[in-house]
Amino acid sequence: MKFADLHLHTNYSDGTYTPKELVEKAVKAGLSCISITDHDTVGAISEAMDVADSLGIEILPGIEISCEYELREVHILGYLIDHKSAALLKRLETLKENRINRIYKITEKLNALGINLRADDVFSVANGATVGRLHVARAMVLKGFVKTVSEAFNRFIGDNGPAFSLGFRFTPEEAIKFIRDNAGVAVLAHPYVIENEELIFKFIGLGLTGLEVYYPEHSQGEINFYLGLAKEHNLLVTGGSDCHGSAKPQVRIGSIKIPYDLVEKMKEARERLS
Ligand code: AMP
Ligand code: ZN
Ligand code: FE
Ligand code: FE
Repeated sequence: MKFADLHLHTNYSDGTYTPKELVEKAVKAGLSCISITDHDTVGAISEAMDVADSLGIEILPGIEISCEYELREVHILGYLIDHKSAALLKRLETLKENRINRIYKITEKLNALGINLRADDVFSVANGATVGRLHVARAMVLKGFVKTVSEAFNRFIGDNGPAFSLGFRFTPEEAIKFIRDNAGVAVLAHPYVIENEELIFKFIGLGLTGLEVYYPEHSQGEINFYLGLAKEHNLLVTGGSDCHGSAKPQVRIGSIKIPYDLVEKMKEARERLS
């Protein structure tokens, strides 16, 4: 049996492994296929593919796009996208800039709460990657404002926290279109986060093609529920660990392994869509 982990981050976004390290760890974990799904960037993919060839592991191009919907964050995964498309790369540059501007909004809110974290403290943790809240959390730990990344999210920057800020400007509709226009398959990441069946139906109407059913935070009940939904609406089933390296040491690469059949189904679906 061949297995895949289709949700992984590198240091091109908020993971800590380089593409090469990630590929090597994937091989060690016994995976035959991985997808790198960095936030709003495809920067790691070519580098990972170069290493993967000699190690006999398959890399599926991927991305995790952050969207805003009714003042909340929704993540849409794009698989098998044309990661070399000039139009795609140009649009992603804008998203990267939006993320930089958002860090100023978050640090301003933190400052108002008496946490004197500077945007530059965050940028030095990110070191050129697409910058996000996990970098904010790590900077807060480094500066001694909180003890752990979890504490930073729980007290300040979690989705309902006092220093949470949006600023991505992509709607789910635009992200789904963007993925499909670039030859990809759009999948709703970790559906438990949105907890809203009606919204999933809406996204299906907009061209969503799959659900990330297998995810570390999903209970068996949730897995069964999303499997049922996928069957009923003829959606692809995907899954992955969402490993971020040592930024979230409790989530290991390959802790979610899905059968390779599901990757084949995805490839078939992409052929039908294009
Ligand atoms: P961003 O794209 O900047 O909004 O950050 C989203 C990332 O923050 C996710 O991919 C996770 O890595 C991380 N994250 C979100 N919520 C939490 C949480 N409660 N605890 C730890 N990490 C979180
Ligand atoms: Zn992340
Ligand atoms: Fe996510
Ligand atoms: Fe992720």
